[in-house]
Amino acid sequence: MNVNQSAPPVPPFGQPQPVYPGYHQSGYGGQPGSTAPPTSYGAYNGPVPGYQQTPPPGVSRAPPSSEAPPASTAQAPCGQAAYGQFGQGDVQNGPSSTVQMQRFPGSQPFGSVPLAPVVSQPAVLQPFGPPPTSAQVTAQLAGMQISGAVAPALPPVGLGYGPPTSLASASGSFPNSGLYGSYPQGQAPPLSQGQGHLGAQPPQRSAPPQASSFTSPASGGPRMPSMTGPLLPGQGFGGPSVSQPNHVSSPPPQALPPGSQMTGPPGPPPPMHSSQQPGYQLQQNGSFGPARGPQPNYGSPYPGASTFGSQPGPPQPLPPKRLDPDAIPSPQLNELPPQQKTRHRIDPDAIPSPIQVIEDDRNNRGSEPFVTGVRGQVPPLVTTNFLVKDQGNASPRYIRCTSYNIPCTSDMAKQAQVPLAAVIKPLARLPPEEASPYVVDHGESGPLRCNRCKAYMCPFMQFIEGGRRFQCCFCSCINDVPPQYFQHLDHTGKRVDAYDRPELSLGSYEFLATVDYCKNNKFPSPPAFIFMIDVSYNAIRSGLVRLLCEELKSLLDFLPREGGAEESAIRVGFVTYNKVLHFYNVKSSLAQPQMMVVSDVADMFVPLLDGFLVNVSESRAVITSLLDQIPEMFADTRETETVFAPVIQAGMEALKAAECAGKLFLFHTSLPIAEAPGKLKNRDDRKLINTDKEKTLFQPQTGAYQTLAKECVAQGCCVDLFLFPNQYVDVATLSVVPQLTGGSVYKYACFQVENDQERFLSDLRRDVQKVVGFDAVMRVRTSTGIRAVDFFGAFYMSNTTDVELAGLDGDKTVTVEFKHDDRLNEESGALLQCALLYTSCAGQRRLRIHNLALNCCTQLADLYRNCETDTLINYMAKFAYRGVLNSPVKTVRDTLITQCAQILACYRKNCASPSSAGQLILPECMKLLPVYLNCVLKSDVLQPGAEVTTDDRAYVRQLVTSMDVAETNVFFYPRLLPLTKSPIESATEPPAVRASEERLSNGDIYLLENGLNLFLWVGASVQQGVVQSLFSVSSFSQITSGLSVLPVLDNPLSKKVRGLIDSLRAQRSRYMKLIVVKQEDKLEMLFKHFLVEDKSLSGGASYVDFLCHMHKEIRQLLS
Ligand SMILES: [Zn+2]
Repeated sequence: MNVNQSAPPVPPFGQPQPVYPGYHQSGYGGQPGSTAPPTSYGAYNGPVPGYQQTPPPGVSRAPPSSEAPPASTAQAPCGQAAYGQFGQGDVQNGPSSTVQMQRFPGSQPFGSVPLAPVVSQPAVLQPFGPPPTSAQVTAQLAGMQISGAVAPALPPVGLGYGPPTSLASASGSFPNSGLYGSYPQGQAPPLSQGQGHLGAQPPQRSAPPQASSFTSPASGGPRMPSMTGPLLPGQGFGGPSVSQPNHVSSPPPQALPPGSQMTGPPGPPPPMHSSQQPGYQLQQNGSFGPARGPQPNYGSPYPGASTFGSQPGPPQPLPPKRLDPDAIPSPQLNELPPQQKTRHRIDPDAIPSPIQVIEDDRNNRGSEPFVTGVRGQVPPLVTTNFLVKDQGNASPRYIRCTSYNIPCTSDMAKQAQVPLAAVIKPLARLPPEEASPYVVDHGESGPLRCNRCKAYMCPFMQFIEGGRRFQCCFCSCINDVPPQYFQHLDHTGKRVDAYDRPELSLGSYEFLATVDYCKNNKFPSPPAFIFMIDVSYNAIRSGLVRLLCEELKSLLDFLPREGGAEESAIRVGFVTYNKVLHFYNVKSSLAQPQMMVVSDVADMFVPLLDGFLVNVSESRAVITSLLDQIPEMFADTRETETVFAPVIQAGMEALKAAECAGKLFLFHTSLPIAEAPGKLKNRDDRKLINTDKEKTLFQPQTGAYQTLAKECVAQGCCVDLFLFPNQYVDVATLSVVPQLTGGSVYKYACFQVENDQERFLSDLRRDVQKVVGFDAVMRVRTSTGIRAVDFFGAFYMSNTTDVELAGLDGDKTVTVEFKHDDRLNEESGALLQCALLYTSCAGQRRLRIHNLALNCCTQLADLYRNCETDTLINYMAKFAYRGVLNSPVKTVRDTLITQCAQILACYRKNCASPSSAGQLILPECMKLLPVYLNCVLKSDVLQPGAEVTTDDRAYVRQLVTSMDVAETNVFFYPRLLPLTKSPIESATEPPAVRASEERLSNGDIYLLENGLNLFLWVGASVQQGVVQSLFSVSSFSQITSGLSVLPVLDNPLSKKVRGLIDSLRAQRSRYMKLIVVKQEDKLEMLFKHFLVEDKSLSGGASYVDFLCHMHKEIRQLLS
């Protein structure tokens, strides 16, 4: 056995580190991406700080030819399913309980919560005085107050954050709330494609966060090929309050006589705003930086602040002009003094801002590498660009947790209601600066494992008895060290070769698997890709078939490779179909391809073996000829009906006959109504929305696809589905197989070549080139005390512990939930080990191991200080999106609200300093939980607008199931970037603004993106010069609404905006088609749907309203 020590042993396939050259692909998720950079296998010596690695010799090739107009829509599958392949019987990991929606009793119906007039007042910034510890806003009406847990005060570097805080803010309804729109579709030609990743975000504000506090108002036939031969055409797809320093909330409104704190007599406009306000300072989370008590500084007004209660409030400057400053009078205000009438709204600037939290994290944590040597460290946010140094724990790019400090007992965990979950992305792509996991080859003996629980050797195993034995860190079993693995220990008990072995010093690494880890005890053959193309009338007419065939001619040169191989080991095959299937013999010795038609779709079989799956370079001429002929052969087809299940069956049977794993790429256009297994009917019925039967819209209409999926998984057959529907196609049913096999679904509604070409081709190229692990099984082991009980993602499980993935690519995540089964120990902490057994693109069998150590606590405050809200939301969204399969949507939504309220109420009760019940106190790490949860609640799946189709909902539901934390973050809370506010010369991405109409200036232009959609909003008063520079027209009125491509103009602004668009696209896993929206234009409704802090037309609450509602729920729990 040998690990690659100084002289790197070369594994069978030559290269330890896979290299996957291809089109340039960019990273995404705010972090630089890379196509698995090849790392040299080189010397692995030396401790932590830096394993040597050579620069990725990756050859980057230019994208294949054609590139055309952009397309539209989205994508996404998921599923569950199982077979175990981890070799020997494993113990550990208990059964996964099927957790349904019902964890908590229902919550209150969430209607429109009356908002209380709020008088908010930011803490006054004292330029010279001591730093303010917090700011606060008081809400009147319901006497509800919100305040953040506090953090240490920092030197007032100036400012505050966020827009200047102002007093009057709207409550309840922002003017012009967004309409609900359906997914954008169809537009014109595309833009250029970007690559690479954005640079690090420059710090925008360096003032450290401080405490935050705010108050809000409360409130079959013969099996014979029918023909063979050369292809021929035709054959054949409250009280007036004012500012109060500190987050100590103001006394209940009633306690104060009206006017007691208010300034002057009615008449003059109330002071609205102080330009010196530090505003609401976010506080730093205790997770990084020095640990803090729950609420340091709590209760102590900062010096210089006016005394609470007598707040004369010198006249303050008027608030900055807002786009829609109209104040909506609230009924309750009648009793208030006149001057307060304009203050009845909660100041949006006084409630936790996602933008500020993101910026602060970038500023505070973006410059230093995240070193994984310390147990329980909370990593930087997913929106922060940072590098990772593996010093014993898996990078957050592979695993992120809802909390890095978990309660020692199940009682504590139940009390807190904080889900304990890990979002795992085993084959995550890394930025070029970071090394891919080292591959360790232990030869014939295979990887060293614990005899009892089968955990793999890792840095946490304890060597004892002079190195002759080791104690398992997961189950405590004492194991003998095999002679060939023996090594002496140093005086600290550590093996002297620890730093020479990745499995003893790194959080992530790979083992070459032995034949014991292979199906049928046989090393696998290289995988195959089969392209299955619908050639029915719709597919031909839209231009899809011609476009696709043309693209494949060049794309086939970019199949995934590894180890610097000259060419891909992957073999390819081709099938076309409508009501019948056509197989093609593209054997290199043929002069022309041959077609074989199988019309017995009820009992699918593969009519040929030899010549169906071929090596691209060997059969290039025949393949090219085939791809040239397909569009011509079916050009005059009148066949409109298609089959679907038989197509998948055929692909799977072909892989089975070839004894290999692989992937099917299906390009499909319509509801499969032709007589065949898996035949579907149109069952779309919007009347079911908001009824107990709504769940049926998300369920498959037949069980045939689950059965088929199971067979596919057993064969290692992953299915990627590209849909091009003109109407309902029953995505919920068609995506079952992709979802259960670890595949992807892409949907291009009303596909037209001219409009959707760029988007489709971009997605296709990326999909075909991405690295995939085939025939995979993932197991998550944990140390004693907790175990994995539930799993979310695109996979299949046939037992309670093994996550089976016919295919797993670098974009897919599996979210795992843990539960206690015993008491944990603060000293030893808790360990997770994710082991993924898979077959590489070259056919090599490997094990990828990720380890992560977490802290355990006996104080709830420690839990709340080490949570990650973005990961919590990822888990909660997946939990809810699975819940809609079994429960009414309303029940699902109520469950989420209740859980959130319980989490926050537990904090308030056990961790926060005593304070008025009217005050809402949020844990620093969770202060965005309400705003983000509200975004989940008002998402298309849980609260659809009138224009969202059943297929869209099913599609999004499955997309989210496999998303990583960065993707769910931006999907639920879109990024809104002002384009003309920052200097044109600035090379960096402009700072985002909050997703609310109130933040839009009609004199500016904005980009909005959520990972799937991309809008360019143009204000009606934008300077004519800007319009000219960007659109090459002389006035706003001449801009074409719905435009999807910006003209290529030679001026700084045009270059900057187009560059930014390319950059945004490069960060995402799917191509985002641009849609230009003009202010006041009808398309604006579509855009406004993404302004998630506002009320939505479908009934979704505004952020402010939701926060009030959440406060009400919490108060009820506490009383
Ligand atoms: Zn063990």
